[in-house]
Amino acid sequence: MYGNQITLVRAIHVTKLPVIEMFSSVQGEGPLVGRRQIFLRLAGCNLACNYCDTPFAPTASCNVETAPGSETFTLWDNPIDAQQVVDCVQGWLEGLPQAHHSFSITGGEPLLHFDALTQWLPLLSQLLPIQLETNGTLTESLRSVLPWLRWVVMDFKLESQTGEPTPWSDHRQFLQLASQVNCCVKIVVGVETSIEELQCAADIVADVARHVPVILQPRTIDGSCSVAGAQLIAWQGVLSRAGLDVRVIPQTHCYLAVL
Ligand code: SF4
Repeated sequence: MYGNQITLVRAIHVTKLPVIEMFSSVQGEGPLVGRRQIFLRLAGCNLACNYCDTPFAPTASCNVETAPGSETFTLWDNPIDAQQVVDCVQGWLEGLPQAHHSFSITGGEPLLHFDALTQWLPLLSQLLPIQLETNGTLTESLRSVLPWLRWVVMDFKLESQTGEPTPWSDHRQFLQLASQVNCCVKIVVGVETSIEELQCAADIVADVARHVPVILQPRTIDGSCSVAGAQLIAWQGVLSRAGLDVRVIPQTHCYLAVL
């Protein structure tokens, strides 16, 4: 039902969700970089990364673009009703047929809301296919929503960047499940990152799901890539020796100056 064929999608008695924002933009990172997506950012997170620049604390109201890509917003009261989102997105898709590639369900950590997502995703997936962006720690929550996901972008959270011990066994378990669909592992790296950490990440991917692409994403500081290109290329070379598909992709939305 994607594209021009928009038919009525109805949500009946679906649990409401705490939303931070909903807008239309170009995906700035990961395997779908450059794709136009509708971003639905949910509140709350189970981690506390040092470098986090994403507002995820629940708020009384959320920001919703008045028109897709306009970067002007209106406020909706939280928590949000699924039908409100469906009606709004249907209007966007009718106004801009073929422009949007997919939804990005992001956070915070969207899997904290797996229960409500089992009701929301069947509705949203009738409008556009769904990419989930997750910190890769809540495996059983992923299991509940996996049938409605086209892509899973999971992080490996390195201690050198987050300031917290890397949850290696959680990431391993999560990857085992996520690799049943189109999955990629994203690793945010910085000047503090050690080759030992990267090797450990590579060993897990090679062991669990060697076919899954690994994206090294240099940390963005003040709108710029914080790691020298030569260093990124060196790390790419080391990890590739494990037989992995390793890509270097910085965050691009800062260069485009879009959301
Ligand atoms: S997992 Fe993501 S949203 Fe949560 S604290 Fe870390 S960077 Fe922020």
